Amino acid sequence: VAKGAGRNRFSYFTPALQVAAQNRMRLTNDLRSAVKGDQLKLYFQPIVHLKTGRVVKAEALLRWQHPQRGLVSPLEFIPLAESSGLIVDIGQWVFNEAVRWVQRWRRDIHPEFQVSLNQSPVEFQREGGSYDVWLRTLREMDMPGQAIVVEITEGLLLDASTMVTDKLLQLRDGGIQVALDDFGTGYSSLSYLNKFDIDYLKIDRSFVSNLAPESSDMALSEAIIVMAHKLGLHVIAEGVETASQRDLLAAANCDFGQGYLFGKPIPAEEFDAFLADRLAIG
Ligand code: C2E
Ligand code: MG
Ligand code: MG
Ligand code: MG
Repeated sequence: VAKGAGRNRFSYFTPALQVAAQNRMRLTNDLRSAVKGDQLKLYFQPIVHLKTGRVVKAEALLRWQHPQRGLVSPLEFIPLAESSGLIVDIGQWVFNEAVRWVQRWRRDIHPEFQVSLNQSPVEFQREGGSYDVWLRTLREMDMPGQAIVVEITEGLLLDASTMVTDKLLQLRDGGIQVALDDFGTGYSSLSYLNKFDIDYLKIDRSFVSNLAPESSDMALSEAIIVMAHKLGLHVIAEGVETASQRDLLAAANCDFGQGYLFGKPIPAEEFDAFLADRLAIG
């Protein structure tokens, strides 16, 4: 980049950029100890079957409890985890936790309870990584792959390499299901819905938040739902915050809803109690 850079190379960095870079380095070092220690926490958010109101799925959402900074958002630390390679250990930790909880909820709450977890594009495409370890763990626990849903984003499918295709097939062979997260925010090419075996389509929160009768976002959501159903996919609406959004989605035949209306992401132990309470109420 810095053409002809020699002695003057450092003039390309302003103090502000230096501070930002130092900050990132420090946070990356902290993240390294966070993974070894017990600063990572898994939160869960309910996913509700709209027709019955039952909670039959949950999304696992990662949190970092930093000793000084407090809760750090995954939007901030996942990029650091990716650039440092820590994402491999972190992803494995998330899987181990998720699998432990879903085993319990399939036993106590519903035999087909599913937990979904997020895989960033870098994480999914990492060299040499495969889902062998996950599938072996599931076998050893005597758990079907269907207990787990992997959430990926559209960008991954856009110019899918054979590596991406192979990994999707590997998940499929192991029974693990696949959800397309944040649908509508990327290129939303419909062709890859046919080309790849996808089980769930998650309508992005940006559409759901503007839902009103006769609105263009309503028309779009309705069209997405009809199309998904024709292709054999189930639809999950993200970011459902009001009863009116829920009712409009249910009327449009949307299968599942997720959002603050049904519950915010909460720590695993609390979510476990939340599920038990709901089961007791019936
Ligand atoms: P996402 O997968 O699209 O997750 C949904 C995000 O929307 C979550 O943010 C959730 O807390 C938030 N949300 C849910 N319902 C509502 C609502 O009704 N209103 C509003 N305003 N927001 C709602 P969160 O937990 O901060 O996670 C952000 C992103 O970080 C996730 O987006 C996902 O892409 C990524 N992420 C989270 N956990 C992991 C992980 O374990 N691994 C990887 N690779 N990425 C993760
Ligand atoms: Mg997600
Ligand atoms: Mg999402
Ligand atoms: Mg999102």
